[in-house]
Amino acid sequence: MSGIRWVLHVDLDQFIAAVEVLRRPELAGKPIIVGGRGDPTERAVVSTASYEARAFGVGSGMPLRIAARKVPDAVILPVDHEAYLAASETVMATLRAQPGATVQVLGWDEAFVGVETEKPEAYARQVQAAVLERTQLHCSVGIGDTLVRAKVATGFGKPAGVFRLTSGNWLDVMGSLPTKDLWGVGTKVSGRLAKLGINTVAELAAADPRTWSRSSAPRWVRGTRSSDAVTAPASWMTPRGLPAGIAGRPPSSAT
Ligand SMILES: [Mg+2]
Repeated sequence: MSGIRWVLHVDLDQFIAAVEVLRRPELAGKPIIVGGRGDPTERAVVSTASYEARAFGVGSGMPLRIAARKVPDAVILPVDHEAYLAASETVMATLRAQPGATVQVLGWDEAFVGVETEKPEAYARQVQAAVLERTQLHCSVGIGDTLVRAKVATGFGKPAGVFRLTSGNWLDVMGSLPTKDLWGVGTKVSGRLAKLGINTVAELAAADPRTWSRSSAPRWVRGTRSSDAVTAPASWMTPRGLPAGIAGRPPSSAT
């Protein structure tokens, strides 16, 4: 395979809920909440919720008791780590079997796939089809010219879609969005940036890095020129590991 080097970020759609539906097909389309031992009277939090349950405002980390109150009809299930791990291993093996793929696992249900191709969308569709065939699970794929852009792109592809973010469309797509929508920027950092008058991605890109470099922005943001903040790390993912600043980042919650 030849062509341009691309990063694909592959992320399973509502992974845990989807694994549960596979073994209980009658649950398809129902609001599913997975957490603790599946008993909302116990102290436990939501591990994941299906899209149907999320529509009621249920999210990961929410106390199970509160989630159950928000969705009286919800099917509440216990966490089954072994089942999710088994499904995850099959997904990752499928990714590694793709032609020319360099795979970096980020979490149970997400991984970067580096590949050289002239048709990244076609490759992404091929990955989705392979994962679906092997596991009956749907995934979304972000395509990027950097790791960060690939990771952010996935959100625009959900569910079951493909979205490409590059230096060419980054500001068009992301410019007006809050800095919190950047990978690695949470409530804390976005709050500090807001105090500096930086609210949007476009404002961050235009700002002098000296004004915000102490804002505890993630390393991949701090280590770059502001105009170029989002293009880092430009370093290609290697078989040894992810570039500094990305390695060691805890997997994002399963969505
Ligand atoms: Mg996911």
